[in-house]
Amino acid sequence: MKVYCCEEHIELALDVIVDECETAPIMEKLQPEGDLSTSCEYCRNAAAYLVGN
Ligand SMILES: [Zn+2]
Repeated sequence: MKVYCCEEHIELALDVIVDECETAPIMEKLQPEGDLSTSCEYCRNAAAYLVGN
């Protein structure tokens, strides 16, 4: 499972991953010059982190 999220929703994303997968999530900071079309799972902001496990 992987979730893209902005700075605002990082805690929400971590909670969701822990709830659904019951494992410690891995948080990866996205490069600013990365895929600009990727947006937050929970709002319309550009994603700043990829959270997965
Ligand atoms: Zn967001």
